[in-house]
Amino acid sequence: MDCKPFILFLFLCLFIRSAKLDIHPTNEVNLLDSKASQGELGWISYPSHGWEEISGVDENYTPIRTFQVCNVMEYSQNNWLRTNWIPRNSAQKIYVELKFTLRDCNSIPMVLGTCKETFNLHYLESDEDHGSKFREHQFSKIDTIAADESFTQTDLGDRILKLNTEVREVGPVTRKGFYLAFQDVGACVALVSVRVYFKKCPFTVRNLAMFPDTVPTDSQSLVEVRGSCVNNSQEEDPPKMYCSTDGEWLVPIGKCLCDIGFEERERACQVCRPGFYKASSGNLKCSKCPPHSYTHQEGSVHCSCEKNYFRHEGDPASMACTRPPSAPRNVISVINETSVILDWSWPEDSGGRRDVTFNVVCKRCWPEPRLCEPCRGTVRFLPRAAGLHNTTVTVADLLAHTNYTFEIESQNGVSLLAAAHRQYAAVTITTNQAAPSPVTVIRKDKTSRNSISLSWLEPERPNGIILDYEVKYYEKQEQETSYTILRSKGTNVTLNGLKPDTIYLLQIRARTAAGYGSSSRKFEFETSPDSFSISSESSQVILIAISSAVAIILLSVVLYIVISRLCGYRKSKHPDEKRLQYGNGQLRLPGIRTYIDPHTYEDPCQAVHEFAKELDASCIAIDKVVGAGEFGEVCSGRLKLPSKKEMCVAIKTLKTGYTEKQRRDFLSEASIMGQFDHPNIIRLEGVVTRSKPVMIVTEYMENGSLDSFLRKHDAQFTVIQLVGMLRGIASGMKYLSDMGYVHRDLAARNILVNSNLVCKVSDFGLSRVLEDDPEAAYTTRVSKYGGKIPIRWTAPEAIAYRKFTSASDAWSYGIVLWEVMSYGERPYWEMSNQDVIKAVDEGYRLPPPMDCPAALYQLMLDCWQKDRNNRPKFEQIVSILDKLIRNPGSLKITANTTSRPANLLLDRNNAADVSFHTMGDWLDSAQTLPCKEAFSGVGYSSCDTLAKASTEDFKKVGVTIVGPKIVSSIQALEAHTKNGPVPV
Ligand code: AMP
Repeated sequence: MDCKPFILFLFLCLFIRSAKLDIHPTNEVNLLDSKASQGELGWISYPSHGWEEISGVDENYTPIRTFQVCNVMEYSQNNWLRTNWIPRNSAQKIYVELKFTLRDCNSIPMVLGTCKETFNLHYLESDEDHGSKFREHQFSKIDTIAADESFTQTDLGDRILKLNTEVREVGPVTRKGFYLAFQDVGACVALVSVRVYFKKCPFTVRNLAMFPDTVPTDSQSLVEVRGSCVNNSQEEDPPKMYCSTDGEWLVPIGKCLCDIGFEERERACQVCRPGFYKASSGNLKCSKCPPHSYTHQEGSVHCSCEKNYFRHEGDPASMACTRPPSAPRNVISVINETSVILDWSWPEDSGGRRDVTFNVVCKRCWPEPRLCEPCRGTVRFLPRAAGLHNTTVTVADLLAHTNYTFEIESQNGVSLLAAAHRQYAAVTITTNQAAPSPVTVIRKDKTSRNSISLSWLEPERPNGIILDYEVKYYEKQEQETSYTILRSKGTNVTLNGLKPDTIYLLQIRARTAAGYGSSSRKFEFETSPDSFSISSESSQVILIAISSAVAIILLSVVLYIVISRLCGYRKSKHPDEKRLQYGNGQLRLPGIRTYIDPHTYEDPCQAVHEFAKELDASCIAIDKVVGAGEFGEVCSGRLKLPSKKEMCVAIKTLKTGYTEKQRRDFLSEASIMGQFDHPNIIRLEGVVTRSKPVMIVTEYMENGSLDSFLRKHDAQFTVIQLVGMLRGIASGMKYLSDMGYVHRDLAARNILVNSNLVCKVSDFGLSRVLEDDPEAAYTTRVSKYGGKIPIRWTAPEAIAYRKFTSASDAWSYGIVLWEVMSYGERPYWEMSNQDVIKAVDEGYRLPPPMDCPAALYQLMLDCWQKDRNNRPKFEQIVSILDKLIRNPGSLKITANTTSRPANLLLDRNNAADVSFHTMGDWLDSAQTLPCKEAFSGVGYSSCDTLAKASTEDFKKVGVTIVGPKIVSSIQALEAHTKNGPVPV
């Protein structure tokens, strides 16, 4: 039975089915693929009637070649089919994939005994093609191939056709090529396709390293392959991978990184686009140029800065380009004798950098002609002059009464790169007088039983002309319980009347117009012993000396009496107690300059001309009106004195039609002002009395009065700046109190502010205008001078019984402190003067302004001590403020306060509790304006009546927003009113 046609039909159908699935992995390299050949394959069959080559088509009608054999009826079949010579290529191990169909012997009748269901696969290696020569014995068997699935007659009928695929490995192969041979021993088999291939690890890129095509070895070991970096990249760790025998890449190690200016994109290093840069190697993306920088090129490593912007050496490329800072702002100077504290605000523009530092340049200046030279080495800067990180510096050891200009320069990391001008703010100051430094060298010239002669050297820094020296001495044993003081104009003195053989301790201090300097250290001297013999000549000399001394003393006493009498005529009949008494009752030392009340002059005009310079009206040019004074307009203008530079001045005029008393009162301010010389007291330039209008000319203060200035600049200053202003005011007040002058009307409205934020005490008028408004600053309570009392600013004892002292000025200073810290808020808001008097008397005090440092609020409370002896002296106030300025951290702790609208007065007796007294503000704070009216309507006109209001009362008038704090305050006040005020 010839079954060939039917076999062919079978395998063709099968072939079509299998061809659709014929996809090879990419790591397989074909050495032979029978399907690829469209013509005759030309393989050799032995014997020739064995394997038969048959043509067919696949599903695409592409011709293919197949082989078949089916001599199942005959015994002893040995049919060979040999391929052509196949070059080995680089293969070490080859794979043979066979696709075939095989008929089940059971399905063929009559073939039992002869029919086989397997065939054999052989191979032969050779370096060259042997052509058609075929020797069976040369071949080595690879394997016997059996079908996984064979087909039967029934299958045929049902058209269930099975294609077998078998793969066999052969290796290692070493020769240049090889043959394959298929041996049939009596099966019915159709060889549909033969594919011979080897495996390789294909070219790949891993971690930016390229790995070439690699053929694995025949053994089981992996092949280690070094990768090479892709273009524009560098090895970080040597890249490696292993090629497995299956042609798979395993275990990638190491990597390459893209060069600067290149980024990883699609497994390659690609150039950064314009507008982007990459400054470091690594597989980061290119970054966009930071602010104020650009690049127009591809592959940029960094971006260039825009015009006027710079990059400091250490700045990372990712940082924006920056520029030098603007100048510091709001420089204020606080002068303390020969040192000055400079304080300024941070520049408006830091140039985009945080490394802003400040340098302070000191220049000593002469006004006429304006010449400045760098300060000499003795000037000290604390903490230093250059590279300051904070906005404050103290400059010490300046010369007294000298003009200095300080330039505060701001710098940052790019200032040196910018060719721009220095950015600085300048402030000009004049140092004050300073007391002389202590005497350090004292020499004993002569010693006797009862006397010692001494001489000494002038202090190292006299800081002015030394008026005299005070020599204080006492017996060492007495421990300073009793001592003697001598004054000497020169630098030597003889101490007489001493005990023989006794040790004395002695201290000397020098005095200038600025007062006494510090005392020298204690020097020890001993008189000669009693037994010390004196010659008769010496005793005569001593006798003469004693008689002469007695004569001189007598003469001095007579002279003193005569001079005192003469001077006495000049003074009024009422000796001015202020000249002898310090504000708080301390005795003033004779010799220190004191204030002279112009009213003690019989002719006040004489006082004016004694203390004020008469100016020629032609030297004054009035520019404009800047304010309204009590006696006439206040103008700004210029004063040009011969051989002096023109200066800006304020000119107070006396309106025409004045009475003689008004003229006298007007000019009395000049008589007072003219006696003062201090940087925080408004300086009098002179008066015009010999022509009309009568004028008082003072230095010009550009920022006007402090209260309106602060209101205009609400919350715009640093605490240090505010404290600097307050320190200036306190320093001016210390000077006034040292002079024995009591201001009586210290208030922010009477402080003037210049362009450098220096505050100066002004308004030395002695009478007050009567105002129609009963709630104006001054009440109808008449002061000692016939003026009105500014109730809200005045100490209780001054209101009650007109006890005006420096201590009552200290109370007012506390109110100014409150005004400053609350940026010009009205003290006690809209409370009536009567309520203020009552509340203060009951022990209530203003609460801390918003964000007020606790230390400043404490100072306010100290100034508002009921007992005036407990209030701080101005000297102490200055020193407290100096300490706060030197240690700004201490200003960070703020006093507890309610939010600004809830202005509640504090009970001084119960400082921890917040109580209230300002009904209106409190009501405003609760946003209950109608209630405020309602309350007024039901008679809550004062604090204590309000205190009696119960929560029910609040509800009655519709107040529902009564917070716990307010309720507790009400309760506190209720308790307080029940128990009565506790004396402060
Ligand atoms: P007085 O009569 O001193 O209260 O001055 C009235 C107003 O004139 C003040 O509130 C200031 O606004 C202005 N004023 C007075 N003196 C000066 C001055 N020296 N410089 C600038 N403004 C001044």
